[in-house]
Amino acid sequence: MPPARLSRTLLAGLIAAATTSAFAAQAAAPDVSKRQPEIEKAVSEISAKRIEAYIRKLVSFGTRHTMSDTSSDTRGIGAARRWIKSELERCGAGTRMQVTYDSYVDQGGPRISRPTEVVNVVATLPGTQPESKDRMYVVSGHYDSRVTDVMNDTADAPGANDDASGTAAVMEMACVMARHNFDATLVFMTVAGEEQGLLGAKHFADQAKKNGWNIAGMYDNDIIGSSHADDGRKDDGQVRLFAQGVPPGKEMSEALRTLVTTGGENDSITRQLARHTKEQGERYVKGFKVNVIYRTDRYLRGGDHSPFLANGYAAVRFTEPNENFDHQHQDLRTENGKVYGDLPEFDDFNYIAKVTKVNVAGLASLALAPAAPQKVGARTDKLENDTTLVWEANQEPDLAGYRIVWRETTAPFWQGAKYVGNVTEASVKLSKDNYFFGVQAVDKDGNVSPATYPVPKR
Ligand SMILES: [Zn+2]
Repeated sequence: MPPARLSRTLLAGLIAAATTSAFAAQAAAPDVSKRQPEIEKAVSEISAKRIEAYIRKLVSFGTRHTMSDTSSDTRGIGAARRWIKSELERCGAGTRMQVTYDSYVDQGGPRISRPTEVVNVVATLPGTQPESKDRMYVVSGHYDSRVTDVMNDTADAPGANDDASGTAAVMEMACVMARHNFDATLVFMTVAGEEQGLLGAKHFADQAKKNGWNIAGMYDNDIIGSSHADDGRKDDGQVRLFAQGVPPGKEMSEALRTLVTTGGENDSITRQLARHTKEQGERYVKGFKVNVIYRTDRYLRGGDHSPFLANGYAAVRFTEPNENFDHQHQDLRTENGKVYGDLPEFDDFNYIAKVTKVNVAGLASLALAPAAPQKVGARTDKLENDTTLVWEANQEPDLAGYRIVWRETTAPFWQGAKYVGNVTEASVKLSKDNYFFGVQAVDKDGNVSPATYPVPKR
């Protein structure tokens, strides 16, 4: 956060923290508020023109319904995915990025009337730091489309916004980021079967859970294409970022019980991911707001981040500020002079580029930073008005140290911070009764991890 935006609360917190002398001899804190040149460069390389070209090409396949034709080279979902794969291979040529299909045959269900191969196109950019490359960040958009009847697999379903916008964003990110280096691994995924029940995303998330993949964060981009509301208002200055708090479930896990017991229902791993994404996205995309919404998704709706949440991963969804339902899941038609359908003329390609840049800033900052600290605890062995936190040491060789962040219990985002150096225990002169805390890991360049919420340590 730049100094100009320090709030009075934050200043008060900083002054309070500065009075703690226990770690006065630490090396200078890395600058965690500067723009990293590598991230700035990647963000600047995102092209609205290429995004537009990807969307127009996706629309040209007529329909991308999950059960549509797969034999034609010009129409249907088969042609679409072969084009996505070849395009990613072309732009990733000479880089470390690997492009594969990830598929299974769905035997049928409420929205699948016959056995259908559901195919994700997955581009993986392996991390370059041995200690970090098992840590993965996944970003997805769905390339399948639909019209009014979700089972109609032949009618033209352009899906220019839902979700060629997200698919094009992911393709553009992959092509740009493949030419940069990141410590952790990035997975750029375009999935099928979203409209038929989040099938492709669920298939990937289930494999991840079964194989114990360390997915430290997941971004879903779905309906990020339009800056116009149905009443004609234009808002191209913000994107909604949906972030779940307490995951719903029939039973409460021990971890969840601990979270809720300490008032941490606003400190789930997904909310920490959202805080990180807002801070980094707004840092690199000037004048653009990442509007974090403390909800899993739009009211009672869901998306491809849902199966990741269900499997215990941190996952958020990007969506435009105002949806226009005349151009979503609609048969192409004109009624009383009004055009219905999800057509490219209702997309705003410059707006999509801004959302893509927020994704790049978020993903790059995550994949350059150390992992969020593990086994973070708040000491409760004696009653005190200070707060003493402990954690396990990170393994990354470029680690500089740790940062304790805090906020008042009613505040949505961090208000104060204190760099405590390369230690695994530190105190701040603020009471854990009155503040929420987190611990972040910081590398020597100032890349900072999302915060980890402390659990009681007795
Ligand atoms: Zn969608």
